[in-house]
Amino acid sequence: MCFLSGKRILITGIASKLSIAYGIAQAMHKQGAELALTYQHDRLKNRIKKFAKELDSDIVLPCDVSEDKSIIALFNELKKFFPTFDGLIHSIAFAPSDQLDGDYVNTVTRQAFQTTHDISAYSFVAMAKYCRSMLNRNSSLLTLSYLGAERVIPHYNVMGVAKASLEANVRYMANSMGPEGIRVNAISAGPIRTLAASGIKNFRQMLVYCENFSPMRRTVTIEDIGNVAAFLSSNLANGITGDVIYVDCGFNIMAMKPDFK
Ligand code: NAP
Repeated sequence: MCFLSGKRILITGIASKLSIAYGIAQAMHKQGAELALTYQHDRLKNRIKKFAKELDSDIVLPCDVSEDKSIIALFNELKKFFPTFDGLIHSIAFAPSDQLDGDYVNTVTRQAFQTTHDISAYSFVAMAKYCRSMLNRNSSLLTLSYLGAERVIPHYNVMGVAKASLEANVRYMANSMGPEGIRVNAISAGPIRTLAASGIKNFRQMLVYCENFSPMRRTVTIEDIGNVAAFLSSNLANGITGDVIYVDCGFNIMAMKPDFK
């Protein structure tokens, strides 16, 4: 018996086979979850439908998290397939591309700060707000964060500030929804080459740096993250909420080069 058998899970944020959400969907499918997927742009609809088919799902729904009406429409439509469900994967972030290159103070603008926080942090609680009444006991809400929330990563800039807000969101949401038996967590993932990540200046060098400086001397894969996401969304993790779990091959624990002599 697989550990997600009987669980119905909504997965956002698949843009390609490189997406972290794609790795999560695959791991959850292996563990017997019934999945529904979302896409933002119509141009991705057919691609996401193809992915859904591979995952034995035909539930593919549009959602642009920058608009409440789109989030509300998503859950109204989802209700037709899943009157209630057991988990949400929020694997969404956005910052205007000019924000991920250069000096933070000189680059950030009021508009970019608002947009980045709106889509990358607020949207998680917005989704929770509008699906709360549909969530079964022992449901799990899970989002994706990055070490840039806690420490300075050059060029990550306003996205790091938004990830800090997202991680605080996780704690407040966990407290709010805990009495209903709903858990809320984040995975702080190590860097992975995806469409979103390719917008960060010097991302390739970041990967090499992480490979050299992490205790395991490698970077993480979407399978590594998918497996932890599947566990966190299952009843095996019923005692974990409000937490940020690192899946980064241990990079976050290092203060000096691993082979420093
Ligand atoms: P990705 O494949 O590009 O996924 C990002 C997703 O966000 C895309 O599906 C994108 O849709 C979606 N999105 C952006 N704005 C949206 C909106 N307004 N409404 C709905 N969806 C929207 O990149 P990824 O790296 O897997 O990113 C997933 C999550 O992991 C993000 O939160 C990211 O910050 C986090 N993360 C990534 C890394 C990394 O190194 N890759 C490390 C730690 C954490 P469109 O493509 O249609 O715009």
